[in-house]
Amino acid sequence: MSQVLYVPRNLLAETRAHLLREAPREGVGLWAGRREVERVLPLPNAHPEPLTGYLAEPLALLRALKEVEREGLSLLAIYHSHPQGPALPSPRDIREARWRVPYVIFGTDGVRAFLLPEGREVGLVLL
Ligand SMILES: [Zn+2]
Repeated sequence: MSQVLYVPRNLLAETRAHLLREAPREGVGLWAGRREVERVLPLPNAHPEPLTGYLAEPLALLRALKEVEREGLSLLAIYHSHPQGPALPSPRDIREARWRVPYVIFGTDGVRAFLLPEGREVGLVLL
């Protein structure tokens, strides 16, 4: 596990609060920052089957990425939830993976992060 994500506990709580609001649908958003996560950017889930899939709404995603850039931050991770399943990438998550940042998955059994599609786990260090 060579790569790690540094996450302040209050921002982890903020992310969980967003995902709880979305349940039972999957929720999706971005984590941005410099060395550690500094910003949580929730996004609308535009997936046609939001109970079992997620798709960040494209315009909101574009706006969020511009905001990250404007604030001088970097995209650190993309997160989503599995309201009914484990914190493991689903076959669809792996198939549709496009980003080179870690995919953080909030499941019923906790939160884990992975580089996809290869599936290498990334450590989460709480601050
Ligand atoms: Zn998933």
